Amino acid sequence: MKALLVIMDGLGDRTDKTPLDLASTPVLDSFAKKGMTGLLYPIGIGFIPGSDTAHLAILGYDPFEFYKGRGAFEALGAGFTLNDGDVAFRVNMATVDDNWNVLDRRAGRNDYGMKELFAAIDNMEIDGVKIRVTHTVEHRGAALFSGENLSVKVSNTDPHKENVRVEKAEALDKTGDHIAKVVNEWTRRAYEILKGHPVNKERVSKGIKPANIPLLRGAGECFKPEPFEKRFGVRPVCIAGGALYKGVARYLSFYTPDIEGATGTKNTNLIAKKNAVLKYMQDYDFVFAHLKGTDSCGHDGDFEGKKAFIERADREFFDGLLDKFDVVVVTGDHSTPCVAKRHSMDPVPILMYHKDIRPDETTKLCEAQAYRGGLGRLMGKDLVPIMMDYINKASMFGE
Ligand code: ZN
Ligand code: ZN
Repeated sequence: MKALLVIMDGLGDRTDKTPLDLASTPVLDSFAKKGMTGLLYPIGIGFIPGSDTAHLAILGYDPFEFYKGRGAFEALGAGFTLNDGDVAFRVNMATVDDNWNVLDRRAGRNDYGMKELFAAIDNMEIDGVKIRVTHTVEHRGAALFSGENLSVKVSNTDPHKENVRVEKAEALDKTGDHIAKVVNEWTRRAYEILKGHPVNKERVSKGIKPANIPLLRGAGECFKPEPFEKRFGVRPVCIAGGALYKGVARYLSFYTPDIEGATGTKNTNLIAKKNAVLKYMQDYDFVFAHLKGTDSCGHDGDFEGKKAFIERADREFFDGLLDKFDVVVVTGDHSTPCVAKRHSMDPVPILMYHKDIRPDETTKLCEAQAYRGGLGRLMGKDLVPIMMDYINKASMFGE
């Protein structure tokens, strides 16, 4: 028996008519008619979910127990191995002026020469700490600090806004003294290497902003939770493009193949992803597939783009896929309303299908109907256990 969980990142929305309400989705509609819909609170009522904490919860792991900082997922997703005592960060390549005022936190969101720039600052050693970095997508990457006396109790250097100075890393308690010093020295050396780098000269000559400083945030550490297979008794695989989602899945010991054409952006190759799901479901019982485009459009306030991505997913991804599984769930990890351009507390529509599920009266996966769906209001952490029951993998409480 096979289970499919599809997370469309930031799927939910607000306002009278949402992208899901207005999107033409004949394939999802046919499963909504045969199945049940409802509303999902990924973490709980009254929380604005991050993508990282929400994915942990939806995959059946309480984020209040298992969340150890986003940097750890980002580094795992980028292919690093985290050992005890290591500290990992997310990295943004940014553009700063000579006084380290941030002109663009994302260096124009342009990845021209980005791999080379990350490579130029890889493998530094400062005060006995080895620092690895690697590029992932766009202006993003991951950094891994390995050495003695490190701690995640260190603040971000990314100020999270523009036209202010790069922040100095500060220790958040005594254990953070050493890493704060190393981070600040590393940032200084990286800037010296990047500011005169030939790739940045090329970028400027092409009218692209230079990527001259790495900004760090989200210090995370190694932690080894019980593998998903042990917890739920099924062999899991993750089909995703974005490093964060692969990282969360690796953290839970999912198999996470690289999918050609899966970019973790709204231009991702959805047909390649569908084919990957069909291929890997032969050897794995639980497939977690992640589509990022809905969230990216929500952050950009692009209502039409979000609706168009949902429609493309219906045609290119869901068609010919959902009927191959015994239990299917389609939902989001949170809402990213186009009017808000950020994650919100709004619950996310959810669709569940199994051949013996009792159909409710809803006919479409959308906000306009989900509130009266038969699933009612679910919490993220309850989702995988319910799916497991439909494929006879859940166990009884009591006798
Ligand atoms: Zn998300
Ligand atoms: Zn987001």
